[in-house]
Amino acid sequence: MDVSPPRFRDHLNRTALVYGLYARWCGRRGPGLLLIPIRRQKLLQRNDIRTGKNIAMNVKVLGNGGAINDGLPYNAFIINGTLLCETPPDIMLSLHKNDIEIPSINTIYISHFHGDHVFGLPFLILSAFLLHKTDNKNLFFTIVGPEGIEEMAENIVISAFTSNHPCLEWMKAFCNFLEVDESSKPELVGGYQTSIFKLNHLIDTYGFFLTNDDNIVEFSYVADTRWCESIRAVLNRQPRVVMIDLNGKDDDPEPVHISMSELKQKAIPITGKNTQYYGTHLKEEFNSTISCIKCAKPGMMISL
Ligand SMILES: [Zn+2]
Ligand SMILES: [Zn+2]
Repeated sequence: MDVSPPRFRDHLNRTALVYGLYARWCGRRGPGLLLIPIRRQKLLQRNDIRTGKNIAMNVKVLGNGGAINDGLPYNAFIINGTLLCETPPDIMLSLHKNDIEIPSINTIYISHFHGDHVFGLPFLILSAFLLHKTDNKNLFFTIVGPEGIEEMAENIVISAFTSNHPCLEWMKAFCNFLEVDESSKPELVGGYQTSIFKLNHLIDTYGFFLTNDDNIVEFSYVADTRWCESIRAVLNRQPRVVMIDLNGKDDDPEPVHISMSELKQKAIPITGKNTQYYGTHLKEEFNSTISCIKCAKPGMMISL
């Protein structure tokens, strides 16, 4: 088991150099080490070795329900098998149902601290702790969220299992917490630039978009929000795919979420057919007659 301090290993993972043996070429000239930056390695991993073409990003939908829904698994999805977005109360069920191996996850993104987005975190921490301890799996997570994310995680793990449970110490030792705001540029998915934007919700809530090497926005996540200027700004970039909160209804007495009418009247005129929308965080699933709007459904794989 690797028991080196996680923050140090995380630092290594982000910034250190990989040492490759280069003995044949420099056997008579130098130390015999080839240094390849990690970021370059990630870019290489994104290319198909035979064709040189980029390997597509994929987004797997794990759940599509909002806080109150008619029996849907709660909203969560995973990008390239490594970035888990949201940890709702049923996240372990959704991960198992969709054959996601916990060790493949290296980053967890939490948009805000409402229970339907975060209350499954203690169970994911418990499972990771047990895999680490009993199966010798070398796990650690970077957990990304609004200001207070570390304190929130500790509080809910203690509420779930008490402060005596060793999974709490595991989380402190093997999870790296990263607070974000609209100025942050965390690396969420290898090979893509991340931008964070603030949404208009009841508490601090952030969405993100991922930009490729050609400065094209491949994917954006618009978490719980009313329609707001930051959404308009993202849509002006003509993202290829948007995963968007569609929990609102036209007859909501006080709008808290985006409705289908708003998507049609405010979003589509900006993006035309350039952007494919997947509605999530729903009250119930829907059928769409508009080709650029689809209902996100559990198990769906979106390839870009
Ligand atoms: Zn929610
Ligand atoms: Zn919310």
